[in-house]
Formats: sequence, structure tokens, C-alpha cells
Amino acid sequence: EWVEFNHFFNSIIERFEFSKSQKVRFKRLLPPTDLFVEIDTDKMTQVIDNIISNALKYSPDGGDVRFGVTMSGTFIKVMISDDGMGIPQSNVNRIFDRFYRADRARSRAMGGTGLGLAIAKEMIVAHGGDIWAESEEGKGTTIFFTLPYEQQEDGEWD
Ligand code: ATP
Ligand code: MG
Repeated sequence: EWVEFNHFFNSIIERFEFSKSQKVRFKRLLPPTDLFVEIDTDKMTQVIDNIISNALKYSPDGGDVRFGVTMSGTFIKVMISDDGMGIPQSNVNRIFDRFYRADRARSRAMGGTGLGLAIAKEMIVAHGGDIWAESEEGKGTTIFFTLPYEQQEDGEWD
């Protein structure tokens, strides 16, 4: 289904903003441009839900969660960034592996299966995009993903 990405993304962010219990501030930088993406909205909601849940779950002391969208070429680049505990440098790429969790002690305390980002990667790749992370232990984590987009929704004759 074709949807305008900023609108779609914003409604997910708002759902979290209403329900979150932590003292985390949400900041967004979304372009004032209609960006049409052809996505499975249920699956993409699941992807973004997991990334935002992680940002909250692994930011126990609050801080900001930043949401950004930029365009580059025929892709949009989405970023979700937190000021949480971060991930050890040597393991940043492994967080997209099935059942991988950055360390046992923190994982036991925080629940979850370690499948969220593996599923997110499968879904983003199936949509023609890519997903990756940048992180610094003790400072925070940024998850990036890309999706092909159209500036103008394709017209249909009727
Ligand atoms: P699930 O999502 O299945 O409930 P999970 O959150 O542990 O469990 P993933 O979402 O796949 O699993 O994340 C994998 C691991 O990557 C996490 O266990 C955590 O160690 C690390 N991680 C993911 N996002 C962040 C983040 N924003 N900050 C710090 N660590 C993170
Ligand atoms: Mg998760």
C-alpha cells in the first residue's frame, strides 16, 4: 500500500509519546515534503515499534530520543537515536542476528527474545532497503534504515 512516510512515522511516534512512562524527551526532524513509500504497513509498524521500544528499553535514565528522516537519491533514510547505554563496538553489527543480545546480565533484567531486530532486518530488506546501527557504549545508539520512495504518488487513470 502507498503511504506518506512522514505521516505514517509520526503517528507511530505519537502512540509512544502518549504511552511512555519514562522521562524521555522525543525530538523529531521530519522534512516538509511528501514522501510516498510502498510498504506493508503492518510489518513496517512492527519494525519501527521494535526500534522505538529498544530505544526506550535501553535508555533507563532517560535522555532524548531523536527521530529523523532525510532523502538521498531514490531512498529515504530514517534514523532513531537514543542517549542510552549503547552497545560494545565489537558487537554493533551482531544486534541484527537472531537471538543476539548485547550482554547476558542486562538481557536477563530487561526481557525480550533478541529477535526484534533480526525480524526488522528481514522486513526492511524485503522492502528493498537496508538497516544498520552506530553506537558508543555508555553514550547511545542510532539505528538507520533506508526505503525506496517517490516524491509524487504514481497517478492512476480512472
Ligand atoms: P525483542 O526485541 O525480541 O523483545 P531484544 O530487544 O533483546 O528482544 P532486539 O530488538 O533484536 O532484541 O535487539 C538485540 C539486542 O541489541 C538487544 O538485546 C540489546 O542488547 C541490543 N540493542 C538493541 N537496540 C539497542 C539500543 N537502542 N540501545 C542499546 N542496545 C540495544
Ligand atoms: Mg527489541
